[in-house]
This record gives sequence, C-alpha cells and structure tokens, in this order.
Amino acid sequence: MSRRPATRRTPRPASPAAAPKPAVTVRHYCQGIGDCHLLSFPKADGSLFRMLIDCGIHTSVKGGPALIGDIVADIKAETGGKIDVLVVTHEHWDHVSGFLTSDDLFKDFSVGEVWMGWTENPVDLEAIELDKSRAQALRVLQGASRRLDAERGLSPHLSGVRDGLQSVLGFQFGAKGERVRAARDAAIKLSAKQPPAYFEPGAAPLSIAALPNLRIYVLGPPRDKAALRLEERTSEMYPLGPGGPFARALSAGLAVNETGDGTWLDELSPFERSVGTELSAVLSGSASDTQGDIGAFVWKHYSGQVAEARPEEDPDQSWRRIDADWLGIAADLAMQLDRGVNNTSLVLAFEFIDTGRVFLFPGDAQIGNWLSWKDLKWPVGQGTVTAADLMAGTVYLKVAHHGSHNATPQRQGLELMTNADLSAFIPTNEHDAGKVRWREMPYDAILTALADRTNGRVIRADDAWLANKNGKPAFASPSGSILAVRNAPRDASRGPGGLWVEVDLA
Ligand SMILES: [Zn+2]
Repeated sequence: MSRRPATRRTPRPASPAAAPKPAVTVRHYCQGIGDCHLLSFPKADGSLFRMLIDCGIHTSVKGGPALIGDIVADIKAETGGKIDVLVVTHEHWDHVSGFLTSDDLFKDFSVGEVWMGWTENPVDLEAIELDKSRAQALRVLQGASRRLDAERGLSPHLSGVRDGLQSVLGFQFGAKGERVRAARDAAIKLSAKQPPAYFEPGAAPLSIAALPNLRIYVLGPPRDKAALRLEERTSEMYPLGPGGPFARALSAGLAVNETGDGTWLDELSPFERSVGTELSAVLSGSASDTQGDIGAFVWKHYSGQVAEARPEEDPDQSWRRIDADWLGIAADLAMQLDRGVNNTSLVLAFEFIDTGRVFLFPGDAQIGNWLSWKDLKWPVGQGTVTAADLMAGTVYLKVAHHGSHNATPQRQGLELMTNADLSAFIPTNEHDAGKVRWREMPYDAILTALADRTNGRVIRADDAWLANKNGKPAFASPSGSILAVRNAPRDASRGPGGLWVEVDLA
C-alpha cells in the first residue's frame, strides 16, 4: 500500500490559455496629488516595453520626497532600471519633482528616450515666447508674495491671498523658485539620446518598432494660443502673457525698490517718504509718532485687532484699509499661470490596432487643451481618424489634473467616451487637496459622471482599500477594460495609504 504524499498539490488553473492577455499593464503610484504611471507593454518575444509617465508629488504632501524615494525604488525593482520611454507631460512640480529629489536613485537608470510636448522645446519660437511670459508672470508673483509677506496687519482677505499665493508658488515653482525647471531638466538628462523628442498635436501617429500593434496619437498641447490660455469658458478667458491686465497692474504696482533697511519704497506713493509714516511701522510700534493721537487713531481703525468697536460695528476694522488691496489680483494671476502650464500637457492616446481600443493619458490638460482636439484629423490607412473616434474607443482614462472641475469637460470630454468598458484612475488625494485650498478637487460632479460612465470602475489614489494588502475595489474584477487589479500598501513609516495599484488592461 503506497502512502499518500504529505502535501497536496494546489490545483492548476483549468486552462491558462483561456485567460485573456493584457494589452498593457499600468502601475499607478498612489502619492495622491502627483502623477507617476508605469506602463508595461508585452512585446512579441515575451519581454516588456516600459514607459514611465511623470514622477512627482505636490509640495503640500507631508513626507513627499521620502514617498517618491520609495516609488522610484519600486520602479527600479520592477524594471531593473530600464525604461524605454520617459514621458514628461508638463512642467509642474507634482509631475517632475522625483527626477530632482530622487536623482541619486534615477542616476542608475537607463532611459531610451524622453518624450515631451513642443512647449518644452528650447528652439521653438512659440515655446520661447510662452516661456518668457511665464517667467515674467512668475517674477511679478514672487514680488507680490514678498510684498504681502512684508505687510503687517493684513485684512483677512489679503491674509488669504498671501497664503494662497505662497501655496501656489510653492506648488508650481517649488520652495526655491527654479526647482521645477531643474527637475524637468534632470528628467531630460536621464537619456543619452539628445535632444528629447518634442511632439505636435495632429502629427502622424507614432509607432514603436517593438510594438507593431500600437499607434500613439498626440492630441495636445495645442498650438493655438487662445486654447492654451482657455481655462473654463471663452467669456472667462484671461491672457496669460505680461500684456494681461493682471500682470500689467501688478508690474506697475510692484515697481518699488527695496531700500537698504529692508522696507519698501513705493514709487506710486503721493507723498515723499519723509512726509508720511509707513502703516506697518505704526502698527508694529516702531514709528516715532505712534504714541500720539494719530497713532491711536490708526491703530483703532486700521489694525484689525481692536475689539472696542461700537456694538453695530464689526470689531475687525481692517476692511477700511485699501493700501494693499490691489495685491489681491495676484491670486487671479497665479491661478491663470497655473492653469496655463496645465494646458501645455502632452496628451497621448494609445490605440491598439487589432481591437481599436484606446487608453487616454491627458496629463493635466484643462479645458482649452481638450477643446482644441476637435479639429484634429489623422489619415490612417484608407480613412481618417478624428479625436471623437479616439474618445469613442477609449476604454481607460487617466483622469486629468487630479479630478479638478475644469480638466474633464462634459460635452467634449466624458460624453464622447461612450465605450461600455470605460474604466478610470484619478491621481488625487482629497485631504491634501483641501490643504492647498483646492476644495473642489476631486470635483463631485466629475466623480459622479465618472462613476456613471464607468459603471463604478474608478480607482482613486486615496481609496481606503489601497492601504490594505488584501484590499479589493468595490467593483468586480475582471470587468470592463480591467482584467485584474493588484495593489501594494505603503511602508508603514510613510503613514497609511497605497504605494501603487496595478491594472491589467485589455
Ligand atoms: Zn498635476
């Protein structure tokens, strides 16, 4: 009598051949506000073609550089440090920071080529013009920010503008101003192949020799200046350049000199400096005449800190001041600049030729970028492909700009994505977005529309189940374009949350 083996063999799947093969596997990193996506396309020889799209995290996320370090280490473990194509969608810290803060890890990577939008091309005349406008607006904003920092006893409104400006400047330009450019350039230098490839919307679809079943369409950034600047609706369109009313007003107002003692000499002041007294000096008690009646009057009516107002009055009387109110428009200029840069996003649509299925990665494209696609046409084979055709074929969407209200249009966006298999990923974190006063991010109406269009197949970087090793999304998998979902939580030292979520897509 023979003995049974001590261990039972686990049954093999009935038929491995029956499992559909993914067209692409996407590992989305879950840093929250920030993008980093690793796309792995199977090649004919069974090896993988690797494409990395962006690698950054917003300055507002606590411990951001350490988390990005974990992410880059994971990319290296997964790919062996070999990336065939690195895509840099646009020059924002939350898309490029990792190339600078984790440059010690990236230096061992081998990157085949770098892809970017035409807006990053240093010899493109329109890109140069755009860059000059951006630099000038940045200088003006930094001036306004310094000026607001130096003001004392700001009204509640202006304190809000000051804080908002700091966060926008910190977000867009990094704490030390030029760091975003440095991070973008660090990404470019990772490839031995120079210069990078710069892409135009509407040019012939790209093909990759090792992936003959794939066509890549470039939809943005648009060449049309109006489209680049368009944020929400034409009626609300503001010019981005230095000729714009906000930037012009700010430039004029900020034509002030910092005197040797660090105070401001305002050239627009109606009086000689020796005639008046700086309000901030009165309020700080450093002016010689603050002990007199004038000092008491100013303190009582303009400091915003006196609670002895008459019963019918607001105890905060700082609204009487108009000295720095004009700086409030800095907030509008900052938002314009931010959105203008989002609209320079390189937008890629990956189409599989045999199935016609499309995977759309729009970076942080906002409304102007999206609306410009309607004029695009590509001659393919005997026919013509339009952006509407690509949207109709879209079965997977990387949601633009972290789900903000003005980065996923309704009629010329989601409503054109009619494929029943549509699924989506949103690189967002509601908690961190709240910290930077983006309370509408992710935007409720977009979440609802996405849930409806995708039949609930939406994964968010801040989904609670991602923090659990055995977590499962609310939707059934496989379903729609998602064949399988895997996830990995963060190292416990980084706090709760997912490190990555990976989807097999077909
Ligand atoms: Zn972003």
